[in-house]
Amino acid sequence: MRIDVITCLPGLLESPFGDSILKRAQDKGLVTVAVHDLRAYTTNKHRSTDDYAFGGGAGMVMMVEPIDRCIQQLKSERSYDDVIYLSPDGELLTQSLANELSLKGNLIMLCGHYKGVDERVREHLVTREVSIGNYVLSGGELPAAVLADSIIRLIPGVLSDETSALTDSFQDGLIAPPVYTRPAEYNGWTVPEVLMSGHEARIRQWREQQALERTRKKRPDLLDGDG
Ligand code: SAH
Repeated sequence: MRIDVITCLPGLLESPFGDSILKRAQDKGLVTVAVHDLRAYTTNKHRSTDDYAFGGGAGMVMMVEPIDRCIQQLKSERSYDDVIYLSPDGELLTQSLANELSLKGNLIMLCGHYKGVDERVREHLVTREVSIGNYVLSGGELPAAVLADSIIRLIPGVLSDETSALTDSFQDGLIAPPVYTRPAEYNGWTVPEVLMSGHEARIRQWREQQALERTRKKRPDLLDGDG
């Protein structure tokens, strides 16, 4: 899999992709993440990527030309399954969307800033729009990192224990059961007996029951089938 991220602030993406699981996934060759600085695709003297909004009003708008030039350059090198614009009014990111996107080959993620991108980018260049939640952030970089993380951890081989992603919350429409590690007692706080029993079937049953109970308590909406 390959993810190309287009941004006017590439520095914002260095740390999310430069550490831990996302870095190891790249080191292992399971995914390639390439970050592209929009400034390299500008043609004006000041290398600016934004301009005033037609019709007036506060806030700058990201220009269509550098974005188009960058996307065309990438498309001339390989074909892409989707050009995703991170946008607060896009399709809400859910586990099932992450699952779907993790099966793709090549993705472009476009990060907006200021008031967003010139609408013609959305009309002619973008094939999909994704929001990470009903709130507004200052740029699309953190959303792109969130989306990429949710996708990359699902690629086989990325997590050390391959079944791990499958037992996370939302994968089966339920919240994950509680987890514990050593010591078995701390400050008089104990761990459920069953987890120390070594009895696999009983442990599995306990986990299933806990997952169901927690979901009922914390996220009953998931049981209504609208999660
Ligand atoms: N004027 C826009 C908000 C722009 S926020 C509006 O009212 O809809 C600036 C940029 O941050 C956006 O272009 C987008 O790329 C990114 N962004 C902000 N919030 C986001 C969210 N919840 N999900 C995905 N991207 C978001």
